[in-house]
Amino acid sequence: MLAAIAENLMTNWLPAADRYASMTYRRTGRSGLLLPAVSLGLWHNFGGVDAYENGRALVRAAFDRGITHIDLANNYGPPPGSAEECFGRILRDDLMPYRDELVISSKAGYRMQPGPYGEWGSRKYLVQSCEASLRRMGLNHVDIFYHHRPDPDTPLEETMGALDHLVRSGKALYAGISNYPADRAREAITLLRQLGTPCLIHQPSYSMFNRWVEGGLLDCLGEEGVGCIVFSPLAQGMLTDRYLDGIPADSRAAKAHGFLKRDQVDEAKLTKVRALAAIAKERGQTMAQLALTWVLRHTTVTSALIGASKVSQIDDAIGCLAKLSLDAGEQKKIEAILAT
Ligand code: NDP
Repeated sequence: MLAAIAENLMTNWLPAADRYASMTYRRTGRSGLLLPAVSLGLWHNFGGVDAYENGRALVRAAFDRGITHIDLANNYGPPPGSAEECFGRILRDDLMPYRDELVISSKAGYRMQPGPYGEWGSRKYLVQSCEASLRRMGLNHVDIFYHHRPDPDTPLEETMGALDHLVRSGKALYAGISNYPADRAREAITLLRQLGTPCLIHQPSYSMFNRWVEGGLLDCLGEEGVGCIVFSPLAQGMLTDRYLDGIPADSRAAKAHGFLKRDQVDEAKLTKVRALAAIAKERGQTMAQLALTWVLRHTTVTSALIGASKVSQIDDAIGCLAKLSLDAGEQKKIEAILAT
């Protein structure tokens, strides 16, 4: 009997009691949903090729620190689908008792399976993909379901109709779009509003090295009252100290399946990172913290969606919350470095 109790105590994980003490939560557009200023994505490091216990430690650490939002997609892995399977296992092992404290998202749009129903934006693909994601994670619903990328060939009415259907059938609580340029985003937002399922959020890429959202999308989302969660705010690790002394063997750029390629780690970018890191140091921040502060300076940006391979990277990221303001002088210095 005592042995059974001891075993239960050893395997039953309990999250930190003070997990909501220091995280900042921001309102998602004009919706009722608050998201943590830093969210965790499972694109890399949670696939079938990765160590389960490391992924599990990352998700536990995130939840312990108030990161209530976990972002997935049907195709995350490799192989595609395995990140959702991994997260399903983490839910079963640790987090299912806390399901109501989590905002879990998934997406469909990129290639998931062979054949004509395995990618893009048809109702057939979106609805069956969402159902498959739910099966992999062992969930009844996701909190946010996104169309992952615009589809030039499917009528937007059909794609938005599929998102509306998923919300109305209880498989998703909210609908979102990702990678839509400003004009398509505005059309999608209007259609969803007409259908009675407002667009909760847009998920674009945004970082000091990738500023396309400044060309109209952020304004559009602000005007429409739609939230914005920006992915790859650390430029996949480039906007940290990760590559300042070469390409470490355990880094994304060194991995065959990593999306960051060795030739993207170039000297021109590293020179900028060194100069930016000096500003970070003056502010008492790390390079990663400055990069996150910089994207979060927009009130339109609800959350910075990071990835991590180590718990220390999550701690580094949330350290940005201690100093979330950038003064005009600092912004000017950053602009000058980025413009070189
Ligand atoms: P980041 O720009 O935050 O890059 C994360 C990577 O940077 C980590 O895996 C790690 O790489 C490195 N890193 C992170 N923190 C630190 C640190 N403090 N010091 C040193 N290195 C660090 O984001 P991702 O590119 O991972 O994208 C985040 C999420 O965004 C994804 O998981 C996914 O959910 C979403 N996404 C959405 C897309 C879409 O089309 N909607 C597309 C891409 C991503 P290392 O392995 O080298 O340690």
